[in-house]
Amino acid sequence: MADRFDKHQEPMEMKRRCPRLGHDILFEYCLESGEDDFPCWKIFDCWWEIFDVEAYLKARLPEGEYRKLAQKKPKPKVASILEIVEAAKKRTGKGSE
Ligand code: SF4
Repeated sequence: MADRFDKHQEPMEMKRRCPRLGHDILFEYCLESGEDDFPCWKIFDCWWEIFDVEAYLKARLPEGEYRKLAQKKPKPKVASILEIVEAAKKRTGKGSE
C-alpha cells in the first residue's frame, strides 16, 4: 500500500498526536496502519485540519479503495448522538408521537 505514496514528498514528514496511540506519529504511519496495510480508518478525521487529506488520498488511491476508506469515515458526534436517540425512540415506541 505505502508503495503508492512517494515517501520523499510532503506530507509524509508531517506529525500529529495520534488519538489512538497517545503520542506523535508521522503521516506516513497513518497511510499503512489500517487493516491489511491500508490507511487508518481515522485518517480523514485526524488530518483534515492540517492539509487537504481528502484530495491527497483521492489523487493517489484507486477509486474503489478511496470509496471504501471514505465509507469508514467517522460520523460527526452530533450525527451519531441523534442516531442513537432516534434508535432509542424506536425501541421504546416513542418515535411516532
Ligand atoms: S489516522 Fe489513525 S494512526 Fe493516524 S493519527 Fe489518526 S488514529 Fe492515529
